Amino acid sequence: MTIPFDIKQIQTQFPALQHSDDAPRAVYLDSAATAQKPAIVIDTLRHYYSGYNANVHRGSHSLTTNATFAFEQARTTIQKFIGAASPKEIIWTRGATEALNLIAQTYARNHLQAGDEILVSEMEHHANIVPWQMVAEQTGAKVVKIPMHQNCTLNIDAYQRLLSNKTKIVAIAHITNVTGTRNPIESMIAAAHHYGAVVVVDGAQGIAHEQVDVHALDADFYVFSGHKIYAPAGIGVLYGKQALLEAMPPWHGGGKMVEKVSFSGTDYAGLPSKFEAGTPNVAGSLALAAAIEWLQSIDRQGAEQHIADLRQQALDGIKDIEGLRIIGLQAHASLFSFVVDGVHHQDIATLLDQQHIALRAGHHCAHPMLDALGLTGTLRVSLALYNDQQDVARFITALHKACDLL
Ligand SMILES: *Cc1c(COP(=O)(O)O)cnc(C)c1O
Repeated sequence: MTIPFDIKQIQTQFPALQHSDDAPRAVYLDSAATAQKPAIVIDTLRHYYSGYNANVHRGSHSLTTNATFAFEQARTTIQKFIGAASPKEIIWTRGATEALNLIAQTYARNHLQAGDEILVSEMEHHANIVPWQMVAEQTGAKVVKIPMHQNCTLNIDAYQRLLSNKTKIVAIAHITNVTGTRNPIESMIAAAHHYGAVVVVDGAQGIAHEQVDVHALDADFYVFSGHKIYAPAGIGVLYGKQALLEAMPPWHGGGKMVEKVSFSGTDYAGLPSKFEAGTPNVAGSLALAAAIEWLQSIDRQGAEQHIADLRQQALDGIKDIEGLRIIGLQAHASLFSFVVDGVHHQDIATLLDQQHIALRAGHHCAHPMLDALGLTGTLRVSLALYNDQQDVARFITALHKACDLL
């Protein structure tokens, strides 16, 4: 049973949002960079380190048995959350970036040949561009851009034309971190499969705002980071279809990813250990599972509606500012980017910061997208379920003040 979304009740669960009366409360509008953490996540870390910290899968005492059990249960929580068929399809990583590099250096490096093509959308985060460029260099494959329209939606006609038998991999964001555009990943995946290409979905933003079902999506790979979904940094997930993961060689070598090591050769462990060399981030895994269970316990639909309403309040409140342009309006509900013509984005961010408004200014690790828009940077407001109308009202007032000064 989920109780209807209640913003006041949610806010009390975030220690970082509490403030003493003499210090002005900062308005945090940068959740797409990293989200604040609910107490249950922080408590999970504390509980693990003060209660049953032990290494996992090295079972010679009960502490390690308990830690291993919790660690594998956390994996199952992730599996169920995203609709994966088996916990073997869930690989722990440090985050989305590491997961994308893993795919590039194992799956791609082994499958690509000179002349093959990797289609990468123009609106990707650098984490979903650079690993493909690196493996292209290693294999002689080519990275080909899926262009976007000026309204920041992908050019799907161009995508259809670019797909061919040379296409081996398609890399796309579920939701972009720059404008919040939600890509039509369902139809893009189906189109890629028509040519036998595998699709890698960067879910770093999507996972926090949609109920993801990798099975229904038929995504071959789906990656995300814990820290953008209310969990700690340093933990993330690589989902891959089991058959693909089975066929991939390991990446990092070390402990736990092996069955038997000798100097005449080494037998690798099965899934998921094959991709998890070394001591993992046990506390992070438990905290990510705790964040997900917490998220599942609240009314997510109500939360997303709340966020959409705040976004609309923000847009209505700033639309009269002279020279202000929203970049890509058909965006997703949780974030938007804007520029003010003739004023540098960092100058605005500095004036907002002085008024205790935290938002992101810059290129958002997406140079190609900004180049396509002819911009060097934008200001980005990104909302989470703990923001409220007062936050947005303070942002609106502060932005008007900043623009009056500049
Ligand atoms: C944040 C982000 C990444 C990178 O995530 P890390 O946590 O830094 O590994 C990749 N893609 C998108 C769309 C992002 O927002």
